[in-house]
Amino acid sequence: MRTRFYTHPICREHLTPPGHPERPDRLRVIVDRLDDEPFAYLERLEAPLADEETVLLAHPAEHLDKVKASIPGEGLAVIDGDTTVSPKSLEAALTAIGGALAGVDDVFSGEAGNVFVAGRPPGHHAEKNRAMGFCLFNNAAIAARYAQKKHGAERIAIVDWDVHHGNGTQDIFWDDPSVLYCSTHQMPLYPGTGAAHETGAGNIVNAPLPAGSGSEAFREAFDEKVLPAIDQFAPDLIIISAGFDAHRRDPLAELNLEADDFDWATGVLMERADRLSQGRVVSLLEGGYDLHGLSVSVAAHVGRLLKG
Ligand SMILES: [Zn+2]
Repeated sequence: MRTRFYTHPICREHLTPPGHPERPDRLRVIVDRLDDEPFAYLERLEAPLADEETVLLAHPAEHLDKVKASIPGEGLAVIDGDTTVSPKSLEAALTAIGGALAGVDDVFSGEAGNVFVAGRPPGHHAEKNRAMGFCLFNNAAIAARYAQKKHGAERIAIVDWDVHHGNGTQDIFWDDPSVLYCSTHQMPLYPGTGAAHETGAGNIVNAPLPAGSGSEAFREAFDEKVLPAIDQFAPDLIIISAGFDAHRRDPLAELNLEADDFDWATGVLMERADRLSQGRVVSLLEGGYDLHGLSVSVAAHVGRLLKG
């Protein structure tokens, strides 16, 4: 089965202030890396622009209106201390969503076995009614709702290995047992949510890790918490909120993962997907702020997806 890779140059036109970690160069290094020989069989596509209405799958209209109203005609506008928008941010965000939805279509139609989408801005901090933490709309949540609405999927698992807790995804699915949300993340760390006792309707599995944790603790959290929850839930689709800021080089956090850990985590999720979800895996870029760490981690992740 093919692995598809979606991105689009417009996602590099979502601008952030000088020195901001969530910067367009992140996509440049990913695209460059995936141009290398080992990725010759990766099928590269331009992410399509999603309709604005797709945002409403996971957010109220007032949130969409608020984000649209914040977009400046020129320069940057500030949403909060971390989150800014530039003239092309709405188009970039709708393209990141468009890639995610195309990926969902692909794995349900059989056009692809699995898909990686490198879009910006990221999504997992975006709550139902709040843009925050570099995120405007929750790409993974919109993709999950879309899979349910368009393809009749009943149960979706979202696995979030970004080093930060996906407070937005947890907020959106807090009382929705049709979506399982599993997160490994450093704690304490931004945004402050993600304690193990936050379990929603029994569909939220948080596996916080203390600063300094490395491969062993990460894999143990997967083996003991994430994977058993997926086995029990038997999802129709696995969406990965694929942040790579748990890599040891990352400047925003203190977990000590290696690229090989992302290869491993991808593999164990693919194994579940093969058994439970007809192999369907859609992976969406979240964080990852050291350009070298990001590049080698994405290469490990996509390399594993390609092995099928
Ligand atoms: Zn992060």
